[in-house]
Amino acid sequence: MIFLCHNGLTERTFVISKTILQNLAKEHGTPLFVIDHDQLRANLAEFNRWLPRVQPYFAVKANPNPEIIRTLYQAGASFDVASLPEFLLVHENIKDLSAKERQDFIWDKIIYSHPIKANETLQALDQYKPLVTYDNYEEILKVKKHAPNVGMLLRLRVPNTGAMVELSSKFGAEPGEAVDLIEAAEKAGITVEGLSFHVGSQTTNFQNFVQALTMAAEIFKEARLRGFHKMNQLDIGGGFPAPYDANVKPLHELAKILNTEIARLFPEDVAILAEPGRYLVATACTSVSEVIGKAHRDGRQCYYINDGVYHTYSGQLFDHCHYPVRPFKDGPTELCAVFGPTCDALDTITLAEELPELFLGDLVYSENIGAYSHASSTSFNGFPPAKVIHLNL
Ligand code: PLP
Repeated sequence: MIFLCHNGLTERTFVISKTILQNLAKEHGTPLFVIDHDQLRANLAEFNRWLPRVQPYFAVKANPNPEIIRTLYQAGASFDVASLPEFLLVHENIKDLSAKERQDFIWDKIIYSHPIKANETLQALDQYKPLVTYDNYEEILKVKKHAPNVGMLLRLRVPNTGAMVELSSKFGAEPGEAVDLIEAAEKAGITVEGLSFHVGSQTTNFQNFVQALTMAAEIFKEARLRGFHKMNQLDIGGGFPAPYDANVKPLHELAKILNTEIARLFPEDVAILAEPGRYLVATACTSVSEVIGKAHRDGRQCYYINDGVYHTYSGQLFDHCHYPVRPFKDGPTELCAVFGPTCDALDTITLAEELPELFLGDLVYSENIGAYSHASSTSFNGFPPAKVIHLNL
């Protein structure tokens, strides 16, 4: 399906039909986590279309499903990994390439974006010589000792104002210490190839990007003035918002701002990278679950379904994201509560969902649930994560 945006530009979104979801539930049972690989490819194409100067590195943490990585790999994506297991998941796809092709892929298409790395991780990574990020002096000493063959990007602390998930309280060097940190790394014999930042996940305040780009440009200029000429990469991180509701401005509006600012602030010899996670996977996945219990409590109809906050809906806690629960049937609605299957009252998906009358065995679904959801699903209370189903693989 192609939705026409208010300014006449198109954003491609495939909607999995309700019939397909119901048939999948009939065939496989519930709960299901349905991944549409056409939508993954469309999201990557959309990113490339609006941001032609920016190389997208899929942030694996958003959804580390191996088939998602495979599809994006085949579609030409690069990868942002933030742990050794994530690195190895991507590496699975390149293990049969020649040694040279494999090394080129790691250099050109993988970034290890976690600024804090355990000694053992650095020791294991060193043989692959990836580009890694850092934001403090201790990390320089660790990298020098345990992974002297990696390259580095300095991660800056930038405003995360209004982002759904803020990251600046945990990561990023203050701008005032940035060039000293570059100098310290170079003195330790580690090449600093550029800068990175993250404006916070699901950033709808596009000024965050403008401020971060301005800050990074100033630091680039100062670093080059002080003789650090190997700096030729800027990683603008993630934060690209998924269209969860009509209030989220589409990617092309953000892209217009980014393209203008990047062209104004960074010469052509600076390569621009990004680490989109949510934008690539959120709209590609739909959950399907089933009403397994029903009660009337506090004057409200309550439904108990077989997926919940400890499982696919875990993004409600960890990601501060809300996923509306939709019925498959029509009819007059009332305000209802929807709970997950575990014994814990924290397992509350919503206390206020408009739903028609549902019966035991009825199916419900949630769209746009692909990012930071199944990735943080647990097996709490003995309930396993939802079964993954692939469409258009
Ligand atoms: N890069 C880094 C370093 C991150 O920490 C994250 C998310 O936490 C991402 C990229 C992905 O961000 P997003 O999903 O907002 O695109």
